[in-house]
Formats: sequence, structure tokens, C-alpha cells
Amino acid sequence: MDFAPSASTQALLARVRAFVREHVMPLEAGLPRGFWALSPELDHVRARVREAGMWLPQVPREHGGMGLSLLDHGLLSEELGRTPLGHYAFGCQAPDAGNLELLQEFGTPEQQASFLRPLLDGKIRSAFAMTEPEHAGSNPVWMSTRAVLDGDAWVIDGHKWFTTAVDGAAFAIVMAITDPDAAAHERASMILVPTDTPGFEHVRNIPIMGEAGEGWMSHGEVRFHGCRVPAGNLLGARGRGFALAQARLGPGRIHHCMRWLGICERSFDAMCQRAITRELAPGKFLGEQQTVQEWIAESRAEIDAARLLVLRTAWEIDRNGAKAARDLIASIKFHTAGVMLRVVDRALQVHGAAGMTDDVVISHFYRHERGARIYDGPDEVHKSALAKRILAGYGASRS
Ligand SMILES: Cc1cc2nc3c(=O)[nH]c(=O)nc-3n(C[C@H](O)[C@H](O)[C@H](O)COP(=O)(O)OP(=O)(O)OC[C@H]3O[C@@H](n4cnc5c(N)ncnc54)[C@H](O)[C@@H]3O)c2cc1C
Repeated sequence: MDFAPSASTQALLARVRAFVREHVMPLEAGLPRGFWALSPELDHVRARVREAGMWLPQVPREHGGMGLSLLDHGLLSEELGRTPLGHYAFGCQAPDAGNLELLQEFGTPEQQASFLRPLLDGKIRSAFAMTEPEHAGSNPVWMSTRAVLDGDAWVIDGHKWFTTAVDGAAFAIVMAITDPDAAAHERASMILVPTDTPGFEHVRNIPIMGEAGEGWMSHGEVRFHGCRVPAGNLLGARGRGFALAQARLGPGRIHHCMRWLGICERSFDAMCQRAITRELAPGKFLGEQQTVQEWIAESRAEIDAARLLVLRTAWEIDRNGAKAARDLIASIKFHTAGVMLRVVDRALQVHGAAGMTDDVVISHFYRHERGARIYDGPDEVHKSALAKRILAGYGASRS
């Protein structure tokens, strides 16, 4: 295995790093003002990204992107992850990145014209609505939202939450039960639902750790009251919702994990800077304390080890597909999330009270990234699935 980036990738990474430092990080000071207030500046930066030929790094060239491999996009994702605004600036932010992939792979030409094209152009945003407050999201086949075919339309009734970025999104990909009598994994389908459809109710942005957020930086609660969309809005085949969801998650994990490593590196930089500049007494620096030195050393080793595991996973997916890499995919999800949260916590601690203020980006990471151990499958679910497969290899029966 050779993870050394090619000369062209190295040049791209250097370009992206410089761009992020010069044009994106300065916008962070505006984060407390909220997404809508920041939007004009973000749009301006997005236009510059396009001019620089770096828009949609993960999207195939035929759809107007850079066509990077998963491995190369992973490396770029780390650079972008150093700031909460990096992925948005380059058009590869969640949840749109996953939705783009679904529409590219499974969308009809009509769906691609109506939903994919404006999404690729950054003219609209989208959301993905699967989790329901009434049911355990870690058991994804258990949901109540129903879609019933009535003539030439799907009529949807149900309740979702944690629909990230639904505030201001033009449409949501909604997971709904269409075939209640089918086998558990064939009951649900994905349906494209414009948010201005009568019966689509954006109830609220859910307050999270003291902040409800807005726009792309929020998680919404949504209700569907007899929400009627054309039958042609079915995405992929009927009853294939879970299969599509799986396809969406494989590469998505690499994107998330590399973004988390970017957060690690930014926090690590801040921790080291603080260690060499903060004096505990005249001439006596924080970095001279053994505990701080241990945090720095542990963090360095943990970040580097996590990166190698993620790159190996991307390499395996690029070569043999997501199914062959599923144990690795499970491992990187919980392992990298854990590393990130430990590093962010240490960086915050080293900053003392200043670490809790909005004057440093660490507090933003601390508030907004705790969910990493929960979304896309909680730690415990991945660990349990991985351990069961390992034990099956030792002859244990699967339960
Ligand atoms: C920041 C954030 C963004 C999100 N964005 C979206 C989105 O855009 N669209 C969307 O549809 N959903 C989204 N979600 C929802 C997310 O997918 C669910 O929260 C997740 O699937 C877990 O479901 P749950 O919250 O219902 O927890 P539950 O399923 O109720 O689980 C609660 C806890 O029980 C434990 N647990 C669960 N199963 C097991 C097990 N098998 N073994 C041991 N312990 C277990 C775990 O500790 C888990 O944290 C988001 C969540 C967060 C936090």
C-alpha cells in the first residue's frame, strides 16, 4: 500500500490549504451571527472556488466536478475539515454530497434535470429525512412514515427529525414505508419531496446544546400531512430504500472521517500554539507541563494512526468496493470519531476558559461534533456488528 499522494494531488492539496487559510477561515468570525448572515460572504467564496476550478471535488467530471478518486477526495476533505465552512465552500458538504451521489447513480434523466443539476450548480440545497423521533434510528428498518400510491402521486404522512439542513433546502429525500408487507429491508423507498409541497411542514430547528442554528447549519423536525408528490419522484426502485441508503453511507464515511481528521489537525495546531505561548508564571510555559506534553504526544500518535486506517479503507473501497471494506468502514467510524472528540477536548482544556468561548473555533467543534459518535450509526452498533463478524470467523453463530 502506498498512500503517498501523486505530485498533482500534492499540488492540489497545497492550493486548497492556501485557499482555505486565505478565503474561508476568515469567515469563521461570523459563525456566531448565523448561517443566513454569513451566506452572502459564503456565496462569494464559492464563486472564487469555481473560478479556481476546485468546485465539487468528489463529483465526476461529466457532472462538472473534479472527478477525484475517493482516496484523493479524502485527503482534500481533511484540508477542508480544518474549518467548519470548508466543505460548504467547495460544494461537498453533507447532506448534499450524499444526495448528489444518490441522484447521479439512481436518478432518472427528469430527476437529474430538476433536482441534481441545480444542486450541482450550488443554486439549491437538499436534506435527507430518515430518522424519526418515535423510533430508534439505530434500527433503521423500524419507521412509521408511510407513502401510499394514489393514482399518479405518492401521498406521504409521517414525522422525521434531525433532518440536517432542511431549513432553506429546496427538497428532501424522504425514506418512507411503501410496501409494509414486504421483507424488513424491502419495505421502504426513497422519494424526492420539494419542501414547498403542500403538507410539508418544517416544524422547527431543533435546539442543540443551546443553539438551534439556521439554514445549512441546523437540524430540523419535519411533519408530512398528506404530502402529495408525483409518482415519478420515486428515487431508484420501489422497496430499495435501504439498499440505496447503504450505497450512500460507504463513501460518505470516508468523507466524514477525513473531515474529522481536519478538525483534529486544526485543534492540535491550536493546542500546540497555546502550549508554547501561554505562561503559567513569567517565563514558565504551559507546554513545559508533563500532562500537556502527554496530551500533545498522544494526540499526534492517535491522529496519525487514525489517518492511516481511514486511507487504507478508502484504498480498499477504491479497489474492491464498499462491501469488501465493510469491517474497515465500521472501524473508522467509531475509532476516528473517538480520536477527534478526545483531541478537541484536550485542545479545549489547554485553552482553559478561553477554550469555551466563541473567540476560538474549538468551542464550535466541541458543540457541533459530539454527534459524530451518534449519526450514521452509533458507536455501539458499529462495534457490535464488527465484533459479531470477527467472532463468526472464529465459528460463533450470528445472532
Ligand atoms: C448531528 C446529527 C445529524 C443527523 N443528521 C441526520 C439526517 O440528516 N437525516 C437523518 O435521517 N438522521 C440524521 N441524524 C439522526 C441519526 O442518524 C440518529 O440519531 C442515529 O441513527 C441514532 O438513532 P437515535 O438517535 O434514534 O438513537 P437510538 O437508536 O435510540 O439509540 C440510542 C443509543 O442507544 C445505544 N444503542 C443503540 N443501538 C444499540 C445496539 N445495537 N447495541 C448497543 N447499544 C445500542 C447507542 O448508545 C445509541 O446512541 C442525525 C443525528 C445527529 C446527532
